[in-house]
Amino acid sequence: MELTLLNTRTGKKEKFVPLDEKRITMYVCGPTVYSYIHIGNARAFVVFDTFYRVLRECYENVVYARNITDVDDKINAAARENKEPIRDLTDRFIDIYHEDMAQLNTLQPTFEPRATDHIQAMIKMIEKLITKGNAYEAEGHVLFAVESMQDYGALSHRKLEDMLAGARVEVADYKQHPGDFVLWKPSTGDTPGWESPWGYGRPGWHLECSVMVEALLGETIDIHGGGQDLVFPHHENERAQSCCAHDGKDYVKYWLHNAFLTISGEKMAKSEDNFFTLRDILQHAPGEAVRLALLSGHYRTQLDWSEDNLKQAKASIDSLYTALRGASHLPILEDVKIPESVMTPLLDDLNTPIAISALHDIARRLNKADSDTEKARLKTELLKGGEILGLLMQAPEAWFRWSSSEEQSLTDESIGALIAERLEARKSKDFARADEIRNQLQEAGIILEDGPEGTLWKRA
Ligand code: AMP
Ligand code: ZN
Repeated sequence: MELTLLNTRTGKKEKFVPLDEKRITMYVCGPTVYSYIHIGNARAFVVFDTFYRVLRECYENVVYARNITDVDDKINAAARENKEPIRDLTDRFIDIYHEDMAQLNTLQPTFEPRATDHIQAMIKMIEKLITKGNAYEAEGHVLFAVESMQDYGALSHRKLEDMLAGARVEVADYKQHPGDFVLWKPSTGDTPGWESPWGYGRPGWHLECSVMVEALLGETIDIHGGGQDLVFPHHENERAQSCCAHDGKDYVKYWLHNAFLTISGEKMAKSEDNFFTLRDILQHAPGEAVRLALLSGHYRTQLDWSEDNLKQAKASIDSLYTALRGASHLPILEDVKIPESVMTPLLDDLNTPIAISALHDIARRLNKADSDTEKARLKTELLKGGEILGLLMQAPEAWFRWSSSEEQSLTDESIGALIAERLEARKSKDFARADEIRNQLQEAGIILEDGPEGTLWKRA
């Protein structure tokens, strides 16, 4: 299987050649845990979960780390506002994030490091950078000297001169170059901090990822991912720190960045106040529909979020589950692999829209197939092709019975009881009562389908 990836560093599609076939390493920048994640963040996590699934299909041992940023000024501000201890706030939002991500069928990464568990290693990396002449102390801060790195800007394709020209006027005067960035900064009052050779303080954001990559995955890794907004400055700076700390050794072989999820063409962002939290969306849409909506565009293409897209995604999965439901009596076959029509586009820089349309093609063939052997094979193909995309992971009946939290007027049990009563009414030829029950269910948004297997139902 040949995997190709578009590498942000080179701007080219490249064949994936791992550093070590026996241990594939991938790191993705995770959330800053001070609030609910929004659907734009979810795009990044779903995209890289899908990469992880594809890599696991190609290689036996894939080590995937996705960090948690639990030290940040936004966290301090939220804790102050809520009058809540920082650790309580971050723990609470980590739990919420995990619950939400589970609904999108994302797999648990191999490692999910918290930045605050790696502070001593961060201090060590700063000391190394100072010794090597790549960092300097100024007014309680430690800064990385961008001019000390020969190809600073190579990832984001920026030149230092241009950065200088574009620099804002109010650059702190202790910086040797306006592009120099913080490795360590002083903490006072209720701001969290740790003792260090440069006084009581806390690390800069970029440093945490460099240090956790080194601690968990190694000095050079295969893949580093995140949203496009991270290319500069975050990833450029991670690269600068790590390359310099490791004597110029390459930091990342393949850099992957997902494009933005937008609202009316604008990047969704907490700061713009144009966001929907994943939690709110999951109140009225099932997780797999949200996941499919997020994968419906190629990850390098901007994706505009709308209720219409979400509705289409739900209808799309409905039709896949309808095909599966028609074959529920058939076994899942052992010897059937992920169909090539799904795998080949995924190996081509994760072309999820083509892979999804291949699922529909299989579903169409499954609906039309006339032998049970053929049906069982296509059903298995559909399930396997779905799984690599993190879709079709529940029983069809569970999918069709999903209801939003607002419309839980009838429980599954009471629907079952009404259907049984309707059957009794029909047996005793009380058709008026049978129709009345059908209408009552219809009004509650429950659709009945009478078939050879009895009466099936789904929520509209
Ligand atoms: P943050 O918590 O802001 O650091 O974001 C977590 C992840 O979500 C990062 O990989 C970001 O690049 C990504 N991200 C943030 N906003 C968007 C967006 N509108 N569309 C796609 N990815 C995003
Ligand atoms: Zn990062």
